[in-house]
Amino acid sequence: MSDSRVVLVTGGNRGIGRKIAEAFLAAGEKVAVTSRNGDAPDGALAVSADVTDPDSLDAAFTRIEEELGPVEVVVANAGITRDTLLMRMSDEDFDAVINTNLGGAFRTVKRAITGMIRAKKGRIVLISSVSGLYGVAGQANYSSSKAGLVGLARSITREVGARGITANVVAPGFVRTEMTDELPEKQQKEYLATIPAKRFAEAEEVAAVVRWIASDEASYISGAVIPVDGGLGMGH
Ligand code: NDP
Repeated sequence: MSDSRVVLVTGGNRGIGRKIAEAFLAAGEKVAVTSRNGDAPDGALAVSADVTDPDSLDAAFTRIEEELGPVEVVVANAGITRDTLLMRMSDEDFDAVINTNLGGAFRTVKRAITGMIRAKKGRIVLISSVSGLYGVAGQANYSSSKAGLVGLARSITREVGARGITANVVAPGFVRTEMTDELPEKQQKEYLATIPAKRFAEAEEVAAVVRWIASDEASYISGAVIPVDGGLGMGH
């Protein structure tokens, strides 16, 4: 492991992003966390930024560079859902999800890439979802945005793969959150029946994979889609 790199996790104030930020902190890295509300785990630099707004992202990067140094690891994790069946999905519902999940990752990586090229090293991790490659009824917008991240990572790999930079996709399945805990028992059982592991993932299990794919040990993996889904989406 390299020691004390600067890591940026978008959407790191809560949920999976927070666990990812905590995993990098525990590994001794310097971690900055962005979100719209500007919260962060203890030990991380908290910076407000909206991934749909390039100016706010640029200001966040400038502050991180001034306070911690050049960003060497980017985890594009910020994401939203606006689920509904295709026939009811408005253009606004479609655009908002694509703009946050796919556009947000594009803008974050675009702002980071010059510094990585200059440093001749970098790690880009895009947080997708089993939904992106499996397809989920009611998630045409979300699944499209998450599938788009695969094309983004692979294009980045072809553009800058020779410069010590890797770009990979981590695709979680169902992750245990307050939301999944509150699902009726019958619905939980229905979901669990489809997952070979017969359980939901813990957010820490996703975070550990993200931390590893961003490590020196994973230096020859790029453009890959790494499922963390208990076997749900096998065959991606
Ligand atoms: P949460 O809803 O708990 O967190 C989403 C994060 O994204 C928050 O930190 C939120 O911060 C941030 N965010 C949303 N919109 C914006 C924006 N416009 N600008 C900046 N930050 C934004 O989600 P999860 O932790 O569950 O999910 C994290 C990632 O993992 C997402 O990409 C999701 O698609 C993916 N995923 C989740 C799964 C699950 O089971 N939970 C399964 C598979 C993938 P704030 O609102 O303060 O801006």
